Amino acid sequence: MTVSSLAASIAESPTLRMNEEAELLRQRGEPVIHLGIGEPKNKAPINAILNSTAKLNTGDIKYSPTDGIPSLKKAIIRYTEENYDKVVDPDNIIVTSGAKQAIYNILYTLLNPQDEVIILAPYWVSYPEITRMVYGIPVFVTPEDGDLHPRMTDITEAVSSSTKAIIVNSPNNPSGLVFKEEFIKEIVEFCEKKQIYLIMDDIYHKLVFDGKKAVSCYDFAQGDINESRVISVNGISKLYGMTGFRIGWTIAPSRLVKVMTNIQAQTTSCASVILQAAAEGALTGLQSIVENLRLTIQNNRDIIMQELRSFNGVKITEPDGTFYCFPDFRAYESDSVRLSEFLLKKALVVTVPGKEFGMEGRLRLSFSGSVNDVVEGVARMKWALDPSSPNEIYIGDKKMVRDWL
Ligand code: PMP
Repeated sequence: MTVSSLAASIAESPTLRMNEEAELLRQRGEPVIHLGIGEPKNKAPINAILNSTAKLNTGDIKYSPTDGIPSLKKAIIRYTEENYDKVVDPDNIIVTSGAKQAIYNILYTLLNPQDEVIILAPYWVSYPEITRMVYGIPVFVTPEDGDLHPRMTDITEAVSSSTKAIIVNSPNNPSGLVFKEEFIKEIVEFCEKKQIYLIMDDIYHKLVFDGKKAVSCYDFAQGDINESRVISVNGISKLYGMTGFRIGWTIAPSRLVKVMTNIQAQTTSCASVILQAAAEGALTGLQSIVENLRLTIQNNRDIIMQELRSFNGVKITEPDGTFYCFPDFRAYESDSVRLSEFLLKKALVVTVPGKEFGMEGRLRLSFSGSVNDVVEGVARMKWALDPSSPNEIYIGDKKMVRDWL
C-alpha cells in the first residue's frame, strides 16, 4: 500500500517521533519533563462545564447548523465587540472544531493549486503543512539573523502575482513576541491595497504580559467587513485552557463564510453541539478566569526567564505573550533536532526543535506547565549543556554524572 508523499512527510516529523519516544519513556516510569506541549494546566471554566452538562442532560444531541449554533454566534459577536471594538453579523462567523480547522477551511477556500501563502518565520508548524495539503505553496519570510520580528520590506519583496494570502500570528507561537502596532498597521494597509487576504491568527490575543496589548487588525481595516481582506481566527483553546474542547471560529466576509460552510458541511458537518455549548459557557461566564490564567503564565514566564538568564551562552528574547519562549542555543549546537534529541536522551526533557518553526539553532520551550517542571526542566538542560554548571544532578531518584563535557 502506498501513501501520498505529503502524508509521508507529515508522519516523519521529528517532533512526533520525539513525543512518542517521551511517552514510551514515561510509561516505563522515567521522570520525563515536557517543555514541549502548549496547553495550560487549569481545569475547564465551571460555566463551560455547566453549560455543556446541561446540554448533554437534555439527551437531545443532534446535528447543529454547519456554521455554528446561534447562541454561540451571539456570544462570539459580543466577544468581538468587547475585545476588538468591532461589530460583526452572524453571517460573518463560522464556528469550527478548533482554530486549526478554521485555518484549514480558510486556506481551502482561498487557494487554487500553486497559489502562494506568505508565512512569517518563526511560524506555527501547521501553516506550511495545511498550505501544502490544499496544493498551495508556502513562501517563507525570515527576519534578519538574531531577530524574531518580521519586517515589512522582506514581506513586500516576497509577494508575487501568485500571492493569495499572508498569515500573521501575534502574540506569536513560537517566539512569544507581540508584533508592533506600526507593523500591524502597515500589513493591513498593504493587504487591502494589494487585495491579498490577511489571515490573523489571534488564538493567543489576550495572553499578553506586562500591561502590553496585542493590536487588533480591525483598528486599521477600512470599510465594511464584507469588502475587507482581513480574516481573523480565534478560539477557546488557549485563553480558557480548553484545548480538548476543540472549538474555534473565523470572522470573515460573508461570501467566504458561505464557502467555508460548504467545505465544513462535507468534512465534519458541524462542531459538536455539546462542545459549542461549553464554548458559549466560557465566553459568557466569568472572564476573570482568563486574567487568572494570564497571571499564572506571566509568573511562569518570569521564572523561566530567570532560569535561562543564568544559562551561559543562551540568547533569549523575552516573550510578550503566549506560553512559549524561543531561545537561541547556537552557542552549544546549531542543529536543533540533534540538540532536542540529546536533551531528551540525557536529561529526559522534551523540547521542540526550532527547525520545525522554520528557524534553526533555537528550541521552543513551553512554560504552560507547573513551576516545578519549568525550574527542573531548565536546570536539567543547564546540567546537560553548560560546562560551568555542577556535573552531578538528581533526575528522579537517580544521581546522574555528566561525562560528556
Ligand atoms: N494557531 C496557533 C498559533 C496555535 O499555536 C494553535 C495551537 N497550538 C492553534 C492555532 C490551534 O488551536 P486549536 O486548538 O483551537 O485548534
